[in-house]
Amino acid sequence: MFSAADSVRKENVGDTVHLRALIEFSNICKNNCLYCGIRAGNAKIKRYRLTADEILSLAKSAKEMGLHTIVLQSAEDLGYKTSDLCHIIEGIKRLDVAVTLSIGERTYAEYKAYKEAGADRYLLRIETTDKYLYHKLDPKMDWERRFACLLALKDLKYELGTGSLIGLPSQTIESMAEDILFFKRLDADMIGVGPFIPHPDTPLKDAKGGTLTMALKVMALTRLMLPNINIPATTAMETLEAGGRNKALQSGANVIMPNITLSDLSKNYALYPNKSRTPLADIKAAILKLGRTVGTDRGQSIAYRLKSCS
Ligand code: SAH
Repeated sequence: MFSAADSVRKENVGDTVHLRALIEFSNICKNNCLYCGIRAGNAKIKRYRLTADEILSLAKSAKEMGLHTIVLQSAEDLGYKTSDLCHIIEGIKRLDVAVTLSIGERTYAEYKAYKEAGADRYLLRIETTDKYLYHKLDPKMDWERRFACLLALKDLKYELGTGSLIGLPSQTIESMAEDILFFKRLDADMIGVGPFIPHPDTPLKDAKGGTLTMALKVMALTRLMLPNINIPATTAMETLEAGGRNKALQSGANVIMPNITLSDLSKNYALYPNKSRTPLADIKAAILKLGRTVGTDRGQSIAYRLKSCS
């Protein structure tokens, strides 16, 4: 299955690995997802919120490092006004890069404002398509609302990313298969799949968590079902097992999202413990060693490009 996914990846999206500069700009969260280390209920982490200038300066250094996509990710922090976020997006767009947002659930009007400010892509994992499990793990959150957000983003013609967690407590094989079918029905442009890694300061600290193999299987099947999309080798895969990222690149993945947030801040963006942080130079060297090339453009999803042309 892994080698089939690798061939389908090669045939459809080629040997280039696209790099995305990940900026984790705030870990202040109103939600309390049981699996997540930055949930509101975790009093042990230091909370931070970067200013617009700090975010812009990180984006500038990403551009200088030769990265052509900036991913702005945060917890569900309502501390930034829509106008603040639009100002940040406009500033980054002046650097002539693609902007991906991953800031959770917002209203249609907010998503529209970000798009008009220049945001190109949006990343919002559905986490699981098992609604019962979702409601158990994400108290106060509503699966239908999250799904509605994905539809809104699609309607606004964002290049759309979603994905799921693998190995949640009582998650079944059937439900993971449903996740893949959901990705196909949604016709997403990017899918990120990651193993669930229990965090010691959360209610799920004693859970078993996901395995790299199962996460790779879901990822590989996703590649077989959606040949043209972008698929990241996720940081959680590398965290679970050194070399996990390489395995992912050889089982269907074509994207890596190096973290460029200053490390003293980023350690507080602990979705799960010991989040891997590989230097950019090492990531590039590993890509070349696999006989692949490092992307030199924005790395737009081919699935998205084909839709936009039709
Ligand atoms: N607030 C944004 C970003 C969430 S953090 C949003 O709601 O989209 C990004 C992703 O980290 C989440 O979508 C989730 O899938 C993942 N994550 C959270 N806790 C995790 C854990 N313990 N192990 C692995 N991945 C986790």
